[in-house]
Amino acid sequence: MSGIAPSRLANLWDDARAVGMTEPERLVYRSNILGSDKRVTNYGGGNTSSKIMERDPLTGEQVEVLWVKGSGGDSASIGLDGFATLYMDKLRALKGLYRGVGHEDEMVGYLPHATFNLNPRAASIDTPLHAFVPRPYVDHMHPDAIIAIAASKHSRALTQAIFGDEIGWLPWKRPGFELGLWLEKFCLENPDAGGVILESHGLFTWGDTPKQCYETTISTINRAIAWFEEKSGDRSAFGGQAVDPLAPAERRAIAARLMPRIRGLISGERKKLGHYDDSSAVLEFVSSKDLRPLAALGTSCPDHFLRTKIRPLVIDFDPANPDVDAVVAGLEAATAAYRADYAAYYQRCKHPDSPAIRDANAVVYLMPGVGMFTFALDKATARISGEFYVNAINVMRGASAVSTYRGLPEQEAFDIEYWLLEEAKLQCLPKPRSLAGHIALVTGGAGGIGRATAARLLTEGACVVLADIDEAALAAANGELGKRFGKDFVRPVKFDVTKEGEVISGFAETAVEFGGIDILVSNAGLASSAPIEETSLELWNRNMDILATGYFLVSREAFKLFGAQKIGGNVVFVASKNGLAASPNAAAYCTAKAAEIHLARCLALEGAEAQIRVNVVNPDAVLRGSKIWTGEWKEQRAAAYKLSTDNLEEHYRQRSMLKRSVFPEDIAEAIYFLASEMSAKSTGNIINVDAGNAQSFTR
Ligand code: NAD
Repeated sequence: MSGIAPSRLANLWDDARAVGMTEPERLVYRSNILGSDKRVTNYGGGNTSSKIMERDPLTGEQVEVLWVKGSGGDSASIGLDGFATLYMDKLRALKGLYRGVGHEDEMVGYLPHATFNLNPRAASIDTPLHAFVPRPYVDHMHPDAIIAIAASKHSRALTQAIFGDEIGWLPWKRPGFELGLWLEKFCLENPDAGGVILESHGLFTWGDTPKQCYETTISTINRAIAWFEEKSGDRSAFGGQAVDPLAPAERRAIAARLMPRIRGLISGERKKLGHYDDSSAVLEFVSSKDLRPLAALGTSCPDHFLRTKIRPLVIDFDPANPDVDAVVAGLEAATAAYRADYAAYYQRCKHPDSPAIRDANAVVYLMPGVGMFTFALDKATARISGEFYVNAINVMRGASAVSTYRGLPEQEAFDIEYWLLEEAKLQCLPKPRSLAGHIALVTGGAGGIGRATAARLLTEGACVVLADIDEAALAAANGELGKRFGKDFVRPVKFDVTKEGEVISGFAETAVEFGGIDILVSNAGLASSAPIEETSLELWNRNMDILATGYFLVSREAFKLFGAQKIGGNVVFVASKNGLAASPNAAAYCTAKAAEIHLARCLALEGAEAQIRVNVVNPDAVLRGSKIWTGEWKEQRAAAYKLSTDNLEEHYRQRSMLKRSVFPEDIAEAIYFLASEMSAKSTGNIINVDAGNAQSFTR
């Protein structure tokens, strides 16, 4: 069957590695190898546990301790500190306090009382599910192949047909104390079963050794995969293809147009980041005959819809007669209709004590022939939401090939989405950083000031596109910043600011990678020095091309994207003290920098009505980190002042009024100020960061 990978999962258990490990280390090992394959479990989904004898720090006695994956984190990368540890005898004693299913949520409040060894990792809602399975090693995974069975109308019969009595089946039940008791009962009544499929949810497996538990998990999933392959044969998925997918370049061009518009329509108080996916699994689904009916059923596994919302928004589009303008024009009504639907769902399902309605916008947008856009408050969540919807597509493909796919009943979905315990988690989230959800493009991003600026904006939570012509420096900057701030946050785009076509495609790339743009830092530049008689036309034009025309071209594209989004915008030009103060032997550079500054003023005027602010930072003598100051320019300047190049920094420091050196980070700080809400009431302004230079006073 396509989609669910035909090849089986490999057994990754390595006795030679596992033998020297402590029990907790073996639990980490088991979790990591399980999580390393997304066919075993989705990102952050599922959990693992071991019941381990430990020395009690209070009594010195040996006690049984449940090590279970705590709240948050992902099995693939989890370490020892990702596990909660709880006294098993105390967990068992909780049964005496249990007042029944109507009160199961209160049991979560008791879990911290069972903490072993002051472990600060919070125990998750799934803790009782692991605690009450009377076996020492337990895996709970969300494999697509198993959920395809779990989300089928005939899920129970399919489970029996595939696994006989080896793997049992339990009807849908929200995770919690009651489900823990159900699992315990099942195990006691079926001592030979190796696991159980939970309807609409996932898989529990167990064993008497970690290896046995792991191997049961892998072999159970492999049996499901093999069964699907056999049953579905060559049958075409999702009722067959309805439309031909567009060519890759056309798809991306449409994504570049649509994503900023969608982003603008769904970014309320907090801005959203976008992610685009046109993988073959997605294209097959969005181009199929059953797209609409299946999408309307919603996702099934709670993990899936907590990330994707219960339903996606399907965009009306016929790739055979592609009228993108009509789609763009219709997006406002389509997003409003989705919000109205969501509000109606909230009204239908809410309880008297339900939390207030949350953001009613869709997370997942499906477009026939084009692919899937996902939006969230940060890039990683947008990407992961897309991955989850691909899991849901795989599940729908499997379930509808062998049975009828069923989403979770609406009320159950609502009860999970608006679970008070989930709400409590949301309330505990840290305050977002000042530029969270913002997208910045920094030209000359591989240079000294550009890189420092990117780092400053990334520190505040922005996603940054580094644009530069220097490919090697771009790769280095991208590598370093990606490592420091996370790969989701940084993208390199090679373009020359003087080339119209390259600039246009660079901004389109930005729109596809992140969904739009909020901040343009126009900073690419050079320095040149020559007396007027020796200033060649080529040198003059180079300054004008990069510093005036280049700034115009990138600003124009940014304004177009701001215009599509309609949520304001922010431009910061990195000009120079020399744009205000004349310098000897640098007419071309000074004049181009002056043009830059005046362009900023004009754009501030033009952009104000649309809440687009345009400001300027004027650096001076930033020697450290700057490539400008490594070549000829440094030598020419040193020669002009009759100094050795080594003494130049000190010369500039002494020349400044404050007698201080200026660093790339100082320029970056001023850029951040102008790019942030701290300067919300400023436009058309100039900040000099030059350690004081009376010649460049602005008034
Ligand atoms: P830098 O040379 O380290 O960085 C400039 C970057 O711009 C380089 O990575 C370069 O590859 C890139 N670039 C050049 N031409 C380009 C083009 N056509 N398209 C795309 N990218 C291009 O220099 P820096 O000191 O970081 O300078 C950044 C800005 O600050 C420049 O505009 C410069 O004029 C201005 N400035 C610098 C100083 C200083 O003392 N360093 C002083 C005043 C103004």
